[in-house]
Amino acid sequence: MNERQAVVLGGSMAGLLAARVLTEHFARVTIIERDEFSGMWAGDPEADPREREVRPGVPQGRHAHGLLAAGLDVVERLFPGAAEDLIAAGVPSGDVLANVRFCANGHRLRQAPTGMTALSFSRPYLENYLRAKVMALPGVDARGGTDVVGIKADANQSRVTGAFVQRRDGGGLETIAADLVVDATGRGSRAPRWLDDLGYERPRKEQLHVDLAYVSRHYKVDPALLDGDIAIIIGPSAAAPRGGAVMLQESGRAVITLFGILGDHAPLDDAGYRAYARRLPLPYIADVIEGSVPLDDPVRFRYPASVRHRYDRLRRFPKGFGVIGDAMCSFNPMYGQGMSVAAVEAVRLGDALARDGATEFDALRFFRAVRPVVDIPWQIATGGDAALPGVDGPRDARTRLVNRYLDRLYAVAARDEVVSLAFSRVTNLLDPPTALLRPAVAARVLGRRRLPVKAVLDQETAKA
Ligand SMILES: Cc1cc2nc3c(=O)[nH]c(=O)nc-3n(C[C@H](O)[C@H](O)[C@H](O)COP(=O)(O)OP(=O)(O)OC[C@H]3O[C@@H](n4cnc5c(N)ncnc54)[C@H](O)[C@@H]3O)c2cc1C
Repeated sequence: MNERQAVVLGGSMAGLLAARVLTEHFARVTIIERDEFSGMWAGDPEADPREREVRPGVPQGRHAHGLLAAGLDVVERLFPGAAEDLIAAGVPSGDVLANVRFCANGHRLRQAPTGMTALSFSRPYLENYLRAKVMALPGVDARGGTDVVGIKADANQSRVTGAFVQRRDGGGLETIAADLVVDATGRGSRAPRWLDDLGYERPRKEQLHVDLAYVSRHYKVDPALLDGDIAIIIGPSAAAPRGGAVMLQESGRAVITLFGILGDHAPLDDAGYRAYARRLPLPYIADVIEGSVPLDDPVRFRYPASVRHRYDRLRRFPKGFGVIGDAMCSFNPMYGQGMSVAAVEAVRLGDALARDGATEFDALRFFRAVRPVVDIPWQIATGGDAALPGVDGPRDARTRLVNRYLDRLYAVAARDEVVSLAFSRVTNLLDPPTALLRPAVAARVLGRRRLPVKAVLDQETAKA
């Protein structure tokens, strides 16, 4: 291989997955991460990945995190045997539908085997496992406890040639040279400002205000309370726009998260927390809470808005630079998409490098190739949010129609395995939302088996 060097800014999920892909194209891959890491960070593949510590750079790690089937597919592709390793290490596993109790708009979806695996872990556990794997790859090194301060460009600002970094415990500014710099610093990414400083247009920012808060607490849960399920997820309904999740974890404990939007946030005191759980659209999570022993105090995480930076719409972009993960698009976490989208983006980054070569990486082409990867979950999340009262989401006739159709679909999915499975494939990002309009599904949803779906939708549009 060449002696080319890539630098990844941020060592969380998007950064680790990007680093893994970059090892196929660069002799050296250096990850710069603000947090210091424990022994795991040294890349000892034998180290016990059972570490659950939430680090300051990823405070959301304390809260329920699910990996969708599309994300697990990528993780398996990039790290063959990962699911097996995690299961062997004690991560609860099951079928994505048969063992995950998913409730939407007040309906418990019918559970049935799909053949697709779901894992239920703590977020730090997954991240630590992947970090150990990445750090064990030849050519990968990392600088923990180091802030990225900016990016360096050549004299005519046409190519990014490295990153400016600084140790957090003191020391001067340093430059790390690179043929490619990938920004994976998450929601707080300063890439738009860096572009501005280099004389490029900033990406347009789209956002949807949700004023969401997650409040999470760990419990000692008797798995029998979940009746064979490894997780329970209750989505919000228009009548009760709050939800939650119970996820069994590798440690034998479970995380229970309650969430609400637009200031309707779960309280942090025990009685208030339990009362809030009782007002979810269905009682399952409240029932688990009542039968379980809390292990810590509830902790809150506020998430003001979903944010998408439209890098795919830019016309000029410096060579040698890319952006991935939450730094490009941060989705309302209720839909559990961020890690899985970052994983698919990492694969597309690899495809782009295979096409362009390590030094001629065309970021604009990459951003456009990734557009559908982001479009679909963005539509699912913003469309779902728009169905909730008070959220200022898309309110066009099409969104209203889709949400009315989905209301019917959830009710049918409570009893109909075909519909429930189709919905599960869409929420797991395996099929696009249009799969829910396929005749085999639409006929069951609309209950008019012989009518072509287009005619039915036209009728619905007329009524809307
Ligand atoms: C409450 C909550 C719940 C969520 N639940 C789910 C879920 O169920 N499923 C799911 O798939 N996703 C979920 N997400 C989203 C998920 O956490 C992210 O999409 C995922 O972590 C990928 O993000 P990332 O790697 O791009 O950024 P992040 O995870 O935010 O990581 C950014 C990294 O960059 C580092 N960094 C930042 N700035 C600098 C700097 N200047 N210098 C050096 N290092 C820096 C940080 O320390 C951090 O390690 C949830 C998010 C939230 C907020």
